[in-house]
Amino acid sequence: MKRSEMVGALEGRDDAGLFDRADAVRRACCGETVFVRGIVEFSNCCVRDCLYCGLRRSNRRVRRYRMEHGEIVATARAVVAAGVRTVVLQSGDDLRYGRERLCRIVRDIKALDPAPAVTLSVGERPDDDYRALRDAGADRYLLRHETANEELYGELHPGQSLARRMRILELLRTLGYQVGCGFMVGLPGQTFERLAEDLLFLREFQPDMAGIGPFIPQSDTPLSRAAPGDTELTLRALALARIVTRDAHLPATTALATRDRAHGYSRGLRAGCNVVMFDATPGRYSRRYRIYDGKVASSLEEVRAGIARSGRTASGARGDSLKNACSGQGREARGGTASAAPP
Ligand code: SAH
Repeated sequence: MKRSEMVGALEGRDDAGLFDRADAVRRACCGETVFVRGIVEFSNCCVRDCLYCGLRRSNRRVRRYRMEHGEIVATARAVVAAGVRTVVLQSGDDLRYGRERLCRIVRDIKALDPAPAVTLSVGERPDDDYRALRDAGADRYLLRHETANEELYGELHPGQSLARRMRILELLRTLGYQVGCGFMVGLPGQTFERLAEDLLFLREFQPDMAGIGPFIPQSDTPLSRAAPGDTELTLRALALARIVTRDAHLPATTALATRDRAHGYSRGLRAGCNVVMFDATPGRYSRRYRIYDGKVASSLEEVRAGIARSGRTASGARGDSLKNACSGQGREARGGTASAAPP
């Protein structure tokens, strides 16, 4: 698919054709299973100042919290007890959880019986931390690239660079993580052309997973008055992501469900998605994890019901990377390792 075709598809030139094609690729490469993951948002403290995010350090209006070791592990234990075998640990870039402290959390979660897959989504840290966390047993790492356009990236992330983000993604892969990147749709200043750059990056990088959701303004950020990302456009981006990655795990995101409460998940699942996350964070913290306004906190039951209504099969299995499972398109074609693929 050429860049100009991507732009045309993003503009909505042939939605029916696009969604059908994405659904067919999803069926062929991922099957009917929808993997359910449990996310624990263990800290809303952050050293970064991303313009769109409610956790940014300049936001004085958010009540900050940090979950204790025992509480995080107990929450993960509840996820496992509910039959879900992937625990996603997410936070702001909170360096107060030092290397050893985070490693102990990962080790204790990996010691649960049965041991879940552990996905980290804790942002940018010293390189040695990624190494140590992998050694401690972390299986996957989610680090959205946010936008593949360097200029836009620079405007939205004071003191950060797209080059560093990309370098970390490469490092994570080298370390043997199953790696997730991803981006927001409808960021102020984002054009169809720029969105096409995100899809070209996905095609080139071939992540094991990608998180893609609409931008949603947060009232205590500099972008509070910006327009939110369009649901249709997000669905088109998801469909294109499915087509260019073929077998990457693509969650129907919480942000998508926030924009379209009644149908967000099911529309995502029809546009190429094969993963849904539920919010396992204890309610008193979850309320304060306001990365954007109105963020829904879907329970496991709600997520399971949504998947069933879509006519698909929910699974709490680990759902490791499917890269290589789809002929000719996987990691082998790029000369990488096959270690992440399930038997
Ligand atoms: N500190 C971690 C986790 C960030 S929160 C990291 O940097 O990776 C997870 C994701 O939420 C971000 O990567 C971003 O893509 C998304 N996000 C943040 N603010 C948002 C907003 N206002 N609207 C939509 N998505 C947002």
